[in-house]
Amino acid sequence: MVENQLNLAVHDSRSSAAESIELTRGLDSQISALGEIAQSEPDPANLKQSIEARVQAIRSSLTDYVETYRRNQTVYETRILDLTTQLQGFQRESDQLRQTLAAEQEKAYRDPLTQLPNRLAYNERARVELLRARRNHSPLTLAVLDLDRFKQINDTYGHQVGDKVLRHSAALCQRRVRATDLIARFGGEEFVVLFPETPLDRAAEVCEELRGQLGQAAFQYQGQRVPVTISVGVSGLVESDTLESLFERADRALYQAKNGGRNKVSVADPGSS
Ligand code: GH3
Ligand code: MG
Ligand code: MG
Repeated sequence: MVENQLNLAVHDSRSSAAESIELTRGLDSQISALGEIAQSEPDPANLKQSIEARVQAIRSSLTDYVETYRRNQTVYETRILDLTTQLQGFQRESDQLRQTLAAEQEKAYRDPLTQLPNRLAYNERARVELLRARRNHSPLTLAVLDLDRFKQINDTYGHQVGDKVLRHSAALCQRRVRATDLIARFGGEEFVVLFPETPLDRAAEVCEELRGQLGQAAFQYQGQRVPVTISVGVSGLVESDTLESLFERADRALYQAKNGGRNKVSVADPGSS
């Protein structure tokens, strides 16, 4: 549609140029004819008549040209207005599409229940943080957090209370970690925290605080306290690590915390890969 209009505009501009050339040629030949008459007509009365006829012809060529020019001008202006309206429409549509795309992308990286970044967001950020840690020779620590006996919470109080506990736990952890750390819902009742530029022992202290705060949080159901605890496995990046091996060590440490009675933080031995 816009392409058609633009083709028309190019065509208009070409035919307008052709019309000007034709006018110039016509005027040229009329003026040459005037010169010839002036040289060849001996009778002054005839000469006057011929000259007047030529001048009249020149005047009418010019009037025709001006009229055509005005008519064309109106057509061009209408086309430009149409084009402007269409382009504004396209602009609006593309703005809306851009907004929808940004919102979709945001959705793709967020867990709808807790509003935390999801596993996809974690995977992408973890890749970047690993590269950064390697380049800067800075520490990087990973924690895997898992709510204890969560199935029992669902079974005892219902799934909705389970959801509420998940949301509150997520919010509590999110508030405690730094803005530069990443906490994500990895799946179910399991969360991961990436601590960039943070040594293993320091991140383990933060996890210990999280464990304590969650254990003391006042989750309530029908006036009754709902006890919630977490177990945590923590691992620090070593030279030979991939993201997978870093995660596996944290996961094994989590398993030890569970086996050791739960409500515990277990730190992985860096040499245990
Ligand atoms: P453990 O201490 O060994 O981790 O025991 P657990 O009961 O927490 O672990 P298990 O893997 O046996 O059960 C996890 C439960 O988490 C089962 C599942 O229904 C529940 N769960 C996973 N996602 C959600 C969710 O989005 N909402 C609710 N309410 N429950 C969930
Ligand atoms: Mg669990
Ligand atoms: Mg689990």
